[in-house]
Amino acid sequence: MESKSMPVIFAGHGSPMNAIEDNGFSLAWETLGHKLPKPEAILCISAHWETGGSQITAMEKPRTIHDFGGFPRELFEMQYPAPGSSELADSVIKTIKSPEIKPDQQWGLDHGTWSVLCRMYPKADIPVIQFSLDRTRNGEYHYDLGAQLKFLRKQGVLIIGSGNIVHNLRIMNWNGTAFDWASEFDEKAKNWILDEKHEPLIHFENQGPSAALAINSGEHYLPLLYVLGAQEKGEPVEFFTESIFAGSLSMRGLVIG
Ligand code: ZN
Repeated sequence: MESKSMPVIFAGHGSPMNAIEDNGFSLAWETLGHKLPKPEAILCISAHWETGGSQITAMEKPRTIHDFGGFPRELFEMQYPAPGSSELADSVIKTIKSPEIKPDQQWGLDHGTWSVLCRMYPKADIPVIQFSLDRTRNGEYHYDLGAQLKFLRKQGVLIIGSGNIVHNLRIMNWNGTAFDWASEFDEKAKNWILDEKHEPLIHFENQGPSAALAINSGEHYLPLLYVLGAQEKGEPVEFFTESIFAGSLSMRGLVIG
């Protein structure tokens, strides 16, 4: 691609502990932060902000949200004091005419966003806004919004989807062995992504039992559709992390462009 568009990323974020542990995932995020051109701003679609209607954070100082339980105090003390950008939120609201995107002053940065960004950009000096997941809508809606957000790439904005392609907290395997259905769907998704076959990924509910188990609640999967929607035809894809954690969490991360 000769275009100077910013790349687009999907981060498999997994456990919030990745924010403070040095492991293959957090170290890969650090490497990625060094490798990518420094963004002007970041827009993150996190699995952890579900709304009715699509919303965008528009405050100047987003708070760090500790939206989890049962983790060490160190994690609750983490702050990611990146500025917001009401200007950027406004530009998204004005550019996307349909659906209506509402500005939000309540949310902030949840751990889907900051657990990854604190490793990619530890200085927290790049403005960050979040885009919510309207959970009343289907895959096509989310994919289409990704396509509508694509204009930001030319303005130096890094679009990040943060979730997990396979995520089922009801069935976990702490000895680490991946369930067959988890590996199967992760592999299928990988190949569809590489072949730029987005239709089966958009219509994930038609992809049989492995998809149903991999995407049992949806919120961790849907950010992927924004990322794929923002892809230009023929853009290269690379995977910067790939493995199944605790049997049923795919940590696959990808960069497009
Ligand atoms: Zn999560």
